[in-house]
Amino acid sequence: MQRYFFSLLLTFCTLVCLAQPKVVAHRGYWTTEGSAQNSIASLQKAAEIGCWGSEFDVWMTADGIPVVFHDATIDGIRIEDTTYATLMNHRLQNGEFIPTLQQYLTEAKRLTNCRLIFEIKQHRNEKRDCRISELSVELVNMLGLADRTDYISFSKHVCKRIHELAPKAKVAYLNGELSPKEIKELGWTGIDYNTKVFDKHPDWPLEAKRLGLEVNVWTVDGEEALTHFAQMPGIDIITTNEPEKLIRMKK
Ligand code: MG
Repeated sequence: MQRYFFSLLLTFCTLVCLAQPKVVAHRGYWTTEGSAQNSIASLQKAAEIGCWGSEFDVWMTADGIPVVFHDATIDGIRIEDTTYATLMNHRLQNGEFIPTLQQYLTEAKRLTNCRLIFEIKQHRNEKRDCRISELSVELVNMLGLADRTDYISFSKHVCKRIHELAPKAKVAYLNGELSPKEIKELGWTGIDYNTKVFDKHPDWPLEAKRLGLEVNVWTVDGEEALTHFAQMPGIDIITTNEPEKLIRMKK
């Protein structure tokens, strides 16, 4: 009887935990006054509202400077082909300059309550993928942020290189075509997949959990979708453009 009670309690606790995914602000909390995607303000605002983590995207300029920005191009200019000095002619929607990774991480260090979900974009070739991975790990380590940083990428070269450089760091793959078993075999620590991937493979979240992987889903917006994924067993983290709404719903 006692054994039955404890097993019931364990199931209940597991369900409660599963129903409380952590909140990650997608490209920071940018859907609010004075913010912009991947701006320093978006990171500050994500921390301010109590997000568990804040996601951001990193490119490397032609002269090897890592910058925080989402798109491959800005005003028709390809970031990978542009010097950092040229990028300084452009502003984000809230008037900020495009932050260098160093500027962004320096501010992140000050905001001690927010985890960093660090996306390294897929660059033109393997060499650049590896170089940006090396620069990223170097900077994260130099600023003492290794314990607060999780890496994500669509690039297998990036995930592989990060795993080699920082074997203790969490590394999750974004592209969606690898099964939890394949991710586990590669030694990476999680799947961070689009909602459509989990619609197609509804068994993957729990399969990933059984293998000890972390499960993150993006980009989940709107109350219906947020409720759906918040209740899906096996989902650890929800990445959303509406972090404030999700935090409110969890209360
Ligand atoms: Mg991203």
